[in-house]
Amino acid sequence: MKRNILLLVALLALVACGSPKPIVSSPDGSITVSFYLEEGIPSYSVDVDGRPFILPSQLGLVTREQDLSGEFKLKRIKHSEYAGTWVQPWGENKVIEDRHREMRVSLVHTSGTPVDICFRVFDDGLGFRYEVHSKQDTLTVLDEQTEFAFAHDATSWSLPGDFNSYEHEYRVLPLSELKDANTPVTLRWENGLHASVHEAALYNFPEMVLAQKSGTVFKALLAPYRQEGRRRRGQADASAEPVVRAYVPGEFQTAWRTIQIAHSAVGLVNSSLILNLNEPSKIEDTSWIKPIKYIGVWWSLHLGIENWGGDHHGATTERALQYIDFAAANNIQGVLFEGWNDAWDGSNAVPEFDFTRPAPDFDIQKVTDYAREKGILYITHNETGGNVARFEEQLERSLDWAQGLGIHGLKTGYAGGGLYGGYPRHGQVGVQHYQHVVEEAAKRQIMVDGHEVIKATGIRRTWPNFMTRECAKGMEYNGWSRGNTPTHHETLPYTRLLGGPMDYTPGVFDVLYRNIAGKPQVRTWGMPGTKCRVNTTLVKQIANWVVLYSPMQMACDLMENYEGHPAFQFFRDFDADCDESTALQGEVGEFISVVRRAGDRFFYGATTDAVGRTLTEPLTFLSEGVTYKAIIYADAPDAHWETNPYAYEIREQQVTRSDTLTVHLAPGGGQAITFFPMK
Ligand code: CA
Repeated sequence: MKRNILLLVALLALVACGSPKPIVSSPDGSITVSFYLEEGIPSYSVDVDGRPFILPSQLGLVTREQDLSGEFKLKRIKHSEYAGTWVQPWGENKVIEDRHREMRVSLVHTSGTPVDICFRVFDDGLGFRYEVHSKQDTLTVLDEQTEFAFAHDATSWSLPGDFNSYEHEYRVLPLSELKDANTPVTLRWENGLHASVHEAALYNFPEMVLAQKSGTVFKALLAPYRQEGRRRRGQADASAEPVVRAYVPGEFQTAWRTIQIAHSAVGLVNSSLILNLNEPSKIEDTSWIKPIKYIGVWWSLHLGIENWGGDHHGATTERALQYIDFAAANNIQGVLFEGWNDAWDGSNAVPEFDFTRPAPDFDIQKVTDYAREKGILYITHNETGGNVARFEEQLERSLDWAQGLGIHGLKTGYAGGGLYGGYPRHGQVGVQHYQHVVEEAAKRQIMVDGHEVIKATGIRRTWPNFMTRECAKGMEYNGWSRGNTPTHHETLPYTRLLGGPMDYTPGVFDVLYRNIAGKPQVRTWGMPGTKCRVNTTLVKQIANWVVLYSPMQMACDLMENYEGHPAFQFFRDFDADCDESTALQGEVGEFISVVRRAGDRFFYGATTDAVGRTLTEPLTFLSEGVTYKAIIYADAPDAHWETNPYAYEIREQQVTRSDTLTVHLAPGGGQAITFFPMK
């Protein structure tokens, strides 16, 4: 109560000094952010639908040179408003609406350093960031004081606050029991309100995770600049010496701290908040950036029936040519061959690895020539084993070499526990490095698919050649472990994918690995491939191509498992380059249905966790006055992910937008539909 009265006094003092009100609301009035300056300490609160959502929560940064978490005076508050649309070369939606109100709070620190805190409030959430204008050459960031004091407890979905890996299953916990969490952290309250805390436009700064202060009060925790050894978890540092988080120039801005807010789970999925908080494209001519479908030598390596190098080498010239032929014959635009070079053998990077040196049995010139001749985009693969310095040394030379061969795609990998030199994967050094790769690739018209990189924060708007990334537990885990649960794919769209596209690499048709039975296991990282499986039905794998959005979308299974398979027609027809997307219905961790329009065609995907469901789906998303041929890829009535995963059926029917479909999803299953307009 005393705190509330003090805040009220602080608020009145701000109003009384003649400034505009320290309050800003979303254009529709549903979200209100208030700013306070109490005894020189800045804080904010958020109301949603007229009720407290975030209670007064501290703001500020601590640097070694200047403690920017207090001793501030208010200089000015400036309000502005924006409403417009913008177009991106690719994305879930090409045309994006940006409607927001901005409140820029200009503070002056006692040292004389001006600090602006800029708030932007949209109908689907808010973002705020710090803009520091210090005269110091360098500031050593020790801490960020940003708090999120949620007014009420909630159900939360999150990953652990691990600065080196996002490759975990999501945890479902009461918010009040969350010790630390990586973002996006997705929340649901009993009244149906949903929210997700994340960040947008992360450059030259470490990632933010949430650390519990008490109950439902959380504080931003930045990844350390460096960690001793290659520890997986670094936040529990009890030493008295403050941990350096980042080195920044005196003039700098942080990433936006974001909270997406919606009244339904799919409302979060349909939000463009993260993209809207990023800057327009820095690449002028984007005509060379095109979403693609791709296949390649990859899954056999995770199954352990072939290897990245040495004996049983998977990526041979002969195999590559077969894959290129298959791609050309099946309306697939790209190919990837992991293990094409003689650096990475699946265990560690050899000391002298070189990203221009092919394996002895891989004729890179012949393969890239053949791909070009067939009109297929070749994606080169640079697995660094976390040795960033070595990759940086070779970056320009190896990308020049790739450009010379007509290569327009690059998949990167940073396998291992952290980056060489003790830098956490998600720390400032990592963030700088991944960005450097993207910018150098852009100069050479190369599209990037990053694995084990920093989480997606919407920079694809600014650097649209950064197509997709992994940054979650992907398909690979099904090759050598108990694998991903049926719930995992029902959580990803409401968490990981809120940040941006994910290269999950779906599409295993041989879900029980029947076709590799009896083949010798040549390597493993855990369980032998033959003891593993994919924990879904076959049809859920098809639906995942629609649900798990990636502008570089892989059909990851062995080519032989697709050859002649009737259900592969879906991938042949599928267009990775969509114009518009809508998440139709779903609940976090339970199920989802999504439709994407590509030109005059529509692709629908629905998936469920281990619970079978029947969805009622009105087809109102289809265009007016058009009759469509719907090709339905459905779980058979007796399909079940555990006991009968291969059972599917393909049906055709004519539909219009006034029809409603009954969509049956088997336990751990899905449904995928292609809608073709009838001439
Ligand atoms: Ca990975």
